[in-house]
Amino acid sequence: MTDMTDPEIQRAHDALVPYVEPEGLGRPEGRSVRQRPNTSVIESYLIQQHTWRTEVGNVVTRASVERPLTPEEIEAAAPADHWLVTAWNPLGNRRSLSENERLNERLRSELAEQGASIEGVAATTPPDRSWVEDALVVTGIREEAILEIARDYWQPAITALSPTTLTIVPTGILPGLRGGIALREDVASPPTCPMRIDDEPDALCTMRGGPWVSASIHAALLWKVHRGLLLSRLGCVPCADGSRPTLGPLAKTGGPIAIRPGDLDLASRYGGYVWR
Ligand SMILES: [Zn+2]
Repeated sequence: MTDMTDPEIQRAHDALVPYVEPEGLGRPEGRSVRQRPNTSVIESYLIQQHTWRTEVGNVVTRASVERPLTPEEIEAAAPADHWLVTAWNPLGNRRSLSENERLNERLRSELAEQGASIEGVAATTPPDRSWVEDALVVTGIREEAILEIARDYWQPAITALSPTTLTIVPTGILPGLRGGIALREDVASPPTCPMRIDDEPDALCTMRGGPWVSASIHAALLWKVHRGLLLSRLGCVPCADGSRPTLGPLAKTGGPIAIRPGDLDLASRYGGYVWR
């Protein structure tokens, strides 16, 4: 049914989409079955990265995989002075975007009440961008105090940053999640579309699904929701943050789909997207 004769669209479909769909998009029962995430929750903390938008492009902060820190480097490292903490997606509970955003606002006020400064927001994602969390960038507060607040929000860990190190600091609520310190790496993120996994610098966002049947309509809605999330947090250079048209069936027919995205719980490190 999809017009697969357009090679550009065909290539984009081959590039897949960076999220996990519910079990069955064509039936209400199938749409409420949450799929497992691409990695375990514990692994998600080890591979996650934090993207900062700057005037000259995105910068990704992550633990370096090139080599472990030497004991001398750990000894010589300055103490952490920034922490990344979120209230999103508390320990596997399903949350919509607006619920997550409300939780983060509460977290922000609680941190401020304790005298912390919030310097900004970073987007935490796995490398495949199958989920995203807004992380508050916090300074001017003791780590113990942030940890206690994070635990109240059912967050298994926070991230501590020094100029040279990145540390996962567990709150203790997720058995098996161990802390660890790594060499901090800040790298320029390539200006490719975050909705594609083929990393082609000029390739546009390309729609999945279409207007035909229930499954394709729901696939299209999911695509729109994830694209909205990723573009608002990471931008998309090829489509100029969404101002250039996307490729795909609705790009030609136009018009939004009459389903409310509020009915959807977000994909997270605990599982894929799911309808309520
Ligand atoms: Zn794009």
